[in-house]
Amino acid sequence: MAHLEVDNIRKVFDTPDGKEVAVEGVSFEADDGEFVTLVGPSGCGKTTTLRCIAGLETPTSGKIRLDGRDITELPPNKRDISLMFQSIALYPHMTVRENIAYPLKVDGVSKEKRNGPATEAAQTMQIEDMLDKMPGDLSGGQQQRAALARTVVQDPGVFLMDEPLSDLDAKLKAETRKEIQRIHEKLNTPVVYVTHDQEEAMTMSDYIAVMNDGEIEQFDSPNDIFYRPNNLFVGQFIGQHGMNVAEAEVVRSDSDVSVAVDGYEPDLRLENPENLSEGQVTLGFRPENTLLETDATEGIPGVVELIETFGEEAVVTVDIDRSEPLLAVIDSNRDLSEGADVRAQIGRYAHVFDEETGDVLT
Ligand code: ADP
Ligand code: MG
Repeated sequence: MAHLEVDNIRKVFDTPDGKEVAVEGVSFEADDGEFVTLVGPSGCGKTTTLRCIAGLETPTSGKIRLDGRDITELPPNKRDISLMFQSIALYPHMTVRENIAYPLKVDGVSKEKRNGPATEAAQTMQIEDMLDKMPGDLSGGQQQRAALARTVVQDPGVFLMDEPLSDLDAKLKAETRKEIQRIHEKLNTPVVYVTHDQEEAMTMSDYIAVMNDGEIEQFDSPNDIFYRPNNLFVGQFIGQHGMNVAEAEVVRSDSDVSVAVDGYEPDLRLENPENLSEGQVTLGFRPENTLLETDATEGIPGVVELIETFGEEAVVTVDIDRSEPLLAVIDSNRDLSEGADVRAQIGRYAHVFDEETGDVLT
């Protein structure tokens, strides 16, 4: 049972080039049974945040608490927190049992007392038959499970995982992802998981912290992160195909608010249109919600530049003759070819962002 609280941590590194602010005021909480993911581009401060929680770094300011107790200055092995690194390779010269029991050995637990927890961890991961084998005799999936067993053997109050899937091929990645979710459900402790992969974050988490430049841009459920991005950064980072943007203008009449892109007024279902005042804005809309019409007069005019097919779906890049091209997801059976003139129409769901700050306005 555990409740983890990360309270306004800041971490500044001294480097030969001056000070590097890696984490700037990060706060979040994770309770028993919650899977919290820190996601964001490389260098945004995910690993540093995790290392502060694990005790491998001391934050420049801010507090880490576990069940209300301040653990900010405690050494890693006194924290009841287990960290699983990116590379989860087993030691090839040790048996699976020795590998799994290794963290206990490092902690000074005697050989007899290591056996019980190691067997239990192996049972949790359904590899108890493999305990006396060498890692080389195991399949890739079994090796991953042994490495996970090594992470759970100390029965810690909190699990931290830093990109544990990033070195795996697609099949093993999918398998290990399921195993991680399974042990999370079984052990019911908080997990703080780090990835740069938004799809992993979206599929595995109860809560997601989207990080950018040392800060959390948004902390929410996957559903809210996807459908209610706080700002343009979150909108563009999350989602399989990110988010299209277009410069637009808010037009208000007595009874109505509309948003126009060069005179084209899509029929939008805006959440809080009363928040919009007249002027320039940035309209964000998902490629999954962008329609391409070949014989319409309404829409943003463009030319099909590229069609990339992925099974049933194809992603179409449309050159709209200004800044960034638009993307649209279409049915791959559709009869559309590169070079075609189209009108890109925005489906009902779009987000209106402040043109300068990128903060959501509706
Ligand atoms: P992420 O895990 O999101 O890729 P990191 O937490 O590793 O990001 O790094 C965040 C920032 O802090 C980066 O700019 C990185 O270069 C810097 N950084 C991380 N560790 C150190 C360190 N030990 N010394 C100096 N700078 C560091
Ligand atoms: Mg990292």
